[in-house]
Amino acid sequence: MAALAPDASETVACEECDLLQRLPPLPRGGKARCPRCGNTIATRPMDPLDRPLALTIASAIALIVAHTTPLMGLSAVGRHASTTISGGVLEMWEQGERVTAVVVAFCAGIAPAGYILFMLTVLLAVRRPPAPQWVGEMLRWGRAMEPWSMNEVMILGILVALIKIAELATVEPGIGMYAMGAVVVLFVATMMTVDPHEAWRRIEWADTDQSPRRGSPDATGARA
Ligand SMILES: [Zn+2]
Repeated sequence: MAALAPDASETVACEECDLLQRLPPLPRGGKARCPRCGNTIATRPMDPLDRPLALTIASAIALIVAHTTPLMGLSAVGRHASTTISGGVLEMWEQGERVTAVVVAFCAGIAPAGYILFMLTVLLAVRRPPAPQWVGEMLRWGRAMEPWSMNEVMILGILVALIKIAELATVEPGIGMYAMGAVVVLFVATMMTVDPHEAWRRIEWADTDQSPRRGSPDATGARA
């Protein structure tokens, strides 16, 4: 499915029935359907930059809360303690569970933080076209981080940490756990609203100094 700038017009093939068709310029929030099979072949988001930016900022705040507040409280033999994500990772590393420690650190910390950082930079940089060329490189990096920041992977990381620690003590969820849940939900929302085509188009303007008429953004390496 392609997302289109208002003045762009391109020929696309329907993914369902392969019918080649010329797409008309779409209004904001508009959709184009295949005349033969009714499949949605293109959409133009209502708000391609502001909404993902707001969601990315919210994700950043939730991720910071998730990493600075206790992920869980622990009770063992009458003693009570709490741990943060990084505290848990450190503990696992010290106990010799190094692979688990690295997996949790990457899935719950490095990948989502990297994705947020790249998306924030890209979304801020493309606000006023022409966007600088390095934004294209950032966008590629952000997209590369995406599969690693997926909620399943993040939840898996947290679950592995939980199971490991639950072997040693009784676990009760802390604020960090709820914040991590919020991160997962916000990430899904961000990925749904962010429109890499819109960003690419703005970068292409800078690149070619002309209207974004030529070529599909997929030709430059972006994936829908
Ligand atoms: Zn079709």
